[in-house]
Amino acid sequence: MDLKALIRDIPDFPKPGIMFRDITTLLNSPEGLRYTIDSLVEQCQAKELMPDHVVGMESRGFLFGMPLAYQMNAGFIPVRKPGKLPAPVHRVEYDLEYGKDSLEIHQDAVAPHHRVLIVDDLIATGGTAKATAELLSQLGCEVLGFAFIIELVALNGRQCLPDLPIISLVEY
Ligand code: IMP
Repeated sequence: MDLKALIRDIPDFPKPGIMFRDITTLLNSPEGLRYTIDSLVEQCQAKELMPDHVVGMESRGFLFGMPLAYQMNAGFIPVRKPGKLPAPVHRVEYDLEYGKDSLEIHQDAVAPHHRVLIVDDLIATGGTAKATAELLSQLGCEVLGFAFIIELVALNGRQCLPDLPIISLVEY
């Protein structure tokens, strides 16, 4: 299936000069959604990535991480922007193009022996995925790898990630 045909390109969003890859049109397609999740499952199985938990980053990581976790008989762990999670959290700060951002995870979300797979809709610079991997390593669990729907290859995001398997379904 041609997933690119289901991903909508929005020029100048959220800022002038940025081409936003909009996955709402992919989610909207029953066949596209099923194909996307089935492809993620197949590629995880092929790479023997069988996690105890799938970790998804707010908010588009939730949209793909949750059905993937369900399909793989894994649990799902949300990584959220600051101030959203109700119980005690660990936090990681990371650099943006201008300024900083933070992500949080519940302190009791993972045990040290757990194996996790990090899932997001898109990898650009890799900053979000790298920060999430750092957060999970601080908690002592094992990051098995990463899975994305979209990879913006020109930004070299995968080079800043640890040397682990990385799945992406569509490249721009
Ligand atoms: P990175 O941290 O630079 O790799 O950026 C990845 C994060 O930004 C992910 O959480 C994406 O959801 C979001 N993002 C950046 N560009 C796009 C886009 O074109 N479409 C959808 N999400 C994007």
